[in-house]
Amino acid sequence: MRHSLQKFADRLHALEDRLTVRTQIAFAVGAMTIVLIGALAASAAFISYRNTSELVNIKLASVASTTAARLDRYMAIRQQEVHLFSKLEPLKKLWQDDPAALRKSLEQLQSSFTDFAWIGFVRPDGVVTASTGSLLEGKSVLQRPWFRTGLNDPMVGDVHEAALLASLLAKRADGEPYRFVDIALPVRDADGALLGVLGAHLDWDWARGVINSAEANDGGTDTTLTVMSKNGAVLLGPGTGTTKYAGDRLPGMLESRAGTFTEMNGDERMLTAFYVSRGHRDYQGLNWIVTASQPASVAFAAAAHSAKTILVIGAIAGLIGVLMAFVIARRVSNPIRAITEEANRIGRASGPTMLPRQTGSLEVVQLTRALRSLLRRIGFAEERTKEAELRASENALQFKDDIDKLRHLADTDYLTDLMNRRAFLAAADDAMEFSQRYKRSMATLMIDIDHFKKINDVYGHAAGDAAIKRIAELISQNIRGTDKAARFGGEEFIVLLREVDEATAKLLADRIRTAIEREVIGVGSKNIAATVSIGIALLGDADRDVQDLIERADQGLYLAKNTGRNRCFFMPVPDSRSARAA
Ligand code: GH3
Ligand code: MG
Ligand code: MG
Repeated sequence: MRHSLQKFADRLHALEDRLTVRTQIAFAVGAMTIVLIGALAASAAFISYRNTSELVNIKLASVASTTAARLDRYMAIRQQEVHLFSKLEPLKKLWQDDPAALRKSLEQLQSSFTDFAWIGFVRPDGVVTASTGSLLEGKSVLQRPWFRTGLNDPMVGDVHEAALLASLLAKRADGEPYRFVDIALPVRDADGALLGVLGAHLDWDWARGVINSAEANDGGTDTTLTVMSKNGAVLLGPGTGTTKYAGDRLPGMLESRAGTFTEMNGDERMLTAFYVSRGHRDYQGLNWIVTASQPASVAFAAAAHSAKTILVIGAIAGLIGVLMAFVIARRVSNPIRAITEEANRIGRASGPTMLPRQTGSLEVVQLTRALRSLLRRIGFAEERTKEAELRASENALQFKDDIDKLRHLADTDYLTDLMNRRAFLAAADDAMEFSQRYKRSMATLMIDIDHFKKINDVYGHAAGDAAIKRIAELISQNIRGTDKAARFGGEEFIVLLREVDEATAKLLADRIRTAIEREVIGVGSKNIAATVSIGIALLGDADRDVQDLIERADQGLYLAKNTGRNRCFFMPVPDSRSARAA
């Protein structure tokens, strides 16, 4: 249970992330509206139904009880009339002696109360002596229940179809059989001796009048009234002649005397109130059950209508609510979307840019403000980083320059600007290694100024320096781009020649010697003439390192000096055997 709840919550969260704020708000408002309207309509309908049901029940009950009371009152009055009639002083003599006069009196009574269908006086032996319209006169009613009961006590009999009178009375207009309520009582003389039975048949049609007028005044509520006998026989109303409620509801109805219930009449649900008649004064009553029914559809029409109206109004309100929610959600989400788009743009753009101000709500204004401040900070930081980078690269350039300068200083002779001995030896080592590996030729020239002491002595040390400088320039000018010249110390120079054979080496050496010989070195007002001696050595297979080669060039120089100076001497490569022997 917990697990599946958790799963549901997770899925909901995943869904939330896919839905826009607009959709979420619209959904929430829509759902809320539906729930609210549903609850409102349901409770309104419930309250309305309950109130209506109570009202209808009260009304139906009142109609039923009023009708029952009217029937009872009517019956009580009729019974009293018959009773009073039997006690009338002037009639005392007529009962037995003057049937014709009695008939006249009976007919008078009937004419004043037309509901009496028949009134007659019956001798104790059951023979009718006088009656309205002379009907049944001379006939025996000995077997009729009203007569048998009326011999001893006043009685009121329940509704029944006319028996003996059926053929004697004029046919009814609607063709229905006559139905009567019987009233009978014993007639006695002053001494209490039985003279006979006074019987009256009330045409039951009067009750139809009572019911019809009640139904006509139901205020258009489609109320149906029925009158039933205590055993469930329908005396009046729909289904007259049939029996209703017998066996199930009837005993309860008789016991509770009044109440309401619902029942089905075919497909129609009916609200029904019943009232059991209780008699009126001397009239005991016959326990007639009056029911008043109304179709539920009619009773609850107003309630259903108001529920429908609430639903329709609610649906319209809900729709408006959802639309408004959409509009509000749009107002909320639009600035957020704009901020997102701007942030995206800023993310792709190079260099810091500013987020335009967004409005729409306090939160949005605050969010933009916060983002703008963040961007300002980022921009500031970026600028600082760039500055730092620039400074660092400047510093690096400066260092490189310094290092280059230092290296140049370290490698260069201060006076002649040629390589110094240390730099030359390193370069010569590299060249030597290359030449040995790739079997390339290479040579060195060892150059020394002739009788330099004299120059110093004659022109002074500074002029000597100037001469050294000028001779260094001449050496540089007369070698090839790939060759390297260095000041080896004092007034001695060394040149490294690459890719040369013996002839070229000799040619180059002599070119240097000649150039110097021809030069007149001007120092101030003095003109100095100088010559050099040059020792030449070519790289041989037996040479172990550059020192061997320099050594041989030095030997060449020594020999050049010894053989007269201002000349070049090629020191031949010793053959490998003699070299090894040495
Ligand atoms: P040789 O023909 O045999 O070479 O005779 P030389 O006089 O040149 O003899 P040597 O090469 O032995 O003497 C070199 C002299 O050069 C010694 C020194 O006084 C002078 N000398 C060395 N270095 C410098 C320098 O830097 N400047 C000056 N002005 N003189 C120097
Ligand atoms: Mg020297
Ligand atoms: Mg010298």
